[in-house]
Amino acid sequence: MSALERYTRQMLLAEVGEAGQEKLLAASATVIGCGALGTVIASSLVRAGVGRVKIVDRDYIELNNLQRQILFDEEDIARGLPKAVAAAERLRKINSQVEIEPIVADVNPGNVEEIISDVDLVLDGTDNFETRFLVNDACVKHGIPWIYGAVIATYGMTMVIVPHCTPCFRCLLAKMPAPGSTRTCDTVGVLGPAVNIVASLEVTEGLKLLMGKEEELHGRLIYVDAWTGTLERLELEKKDGLCPACDLGRFEFLEARVGSYPTSLCGREAVQVNVRGEARVSFPDLAERLNSVGPVTFNDYMLRFLVDSYELTIFPDGRAIIKGTTDEAVARTLYARYIGL
Ligand SMILES: [Zn+2]
Repeated sequence: MSALERYTRQMLLAEVGEAGQEKLLAASATVIGCGALGTVIASSLVRAGVGRVKIVDRDYIELNNLQRQILFDEEDIARGLPKAVAAAERLRKINSQVEIEPIVADVNPGNVEEIISDVDLVLDGTDNFETRFLVNDACVKHGIPWIYGAVIATYGMTMVIVPHCTPCFRCLLAKMPAPGSTRTCDTVGVLGPAVNIVASLEVTEGLKLLMGKEEELHGRLIYVDAWTGTLERLELEKKDGLCPACDLGRFEFLEARVGSYPTSLCGREAVQVNVRGEARVSFPDLAERLNSVGPVTFNDYMLRFLVDSYELTIFPDGRAIIKGTTDEAVARTLYARYIGL
């Protein structure tokens, strides 16, 4: 049996062919975040025969993930496996020809360049803006294409960023949204099929890039709502040449000048998440979003929110103290989920 046997249906496509398949087998990609988007992306890349796939995630699997995170099962939860490790185990059974590298880590300014700099492509499976800005800085700096994707409720969007050819993520969004100002899947929910659509659109563009078919990229920001059956293609324009990242080479997230950073609080079962910048949190808005998830109280000085065994206390400048853990990665996850950054 030839090594290409398993890819016959893919090679039959004029868009791929044997030459395209050989390129995929020699290619490599990093999937940042292995939740809903990331599991579909990693599964598609490995089945398609992308030669080396790195999977990065800081989290463990929970029961409420199984509704949409297609690589995990109840046994993985019973075994207490990190997502990256469980995904790698499953994917090796599906395609043993692919080299799969699980990395259990919180992507941060200290490790992001190592995570992205030895691959041909980076795909976004994260759930927060901060990581995307950081990945954008690192990819623009190293000239590595990356594919943005995000889903919430029943809709999502995606676009390809080829550094210095297309607008970058920072061209589109100059600043990070204020802490607590955006909705998250943990406060409004997410529809599994909507995730699968966005992940599939990401991977399709990814395969084009990995086969060297840049000219076939659609070059649009795609917005899709699975519930209403809407798909919009928005033309992107590179603006005035003043983008801090791709025009001026100022990588503020990479240099950790903006964004959040956690610090353990000594002697307490708690972690503080600090936020750089001048953001102000609107407590009434945040409380309204969190009300459906758990008990919330607030006054002028702080907002307190209880979920599972954790207590989150948020201050007007976005700083938060998260009680119930000493693990900084857990604290960052809770912050991204419920406050949103
Ligand atoms: Zn830019």
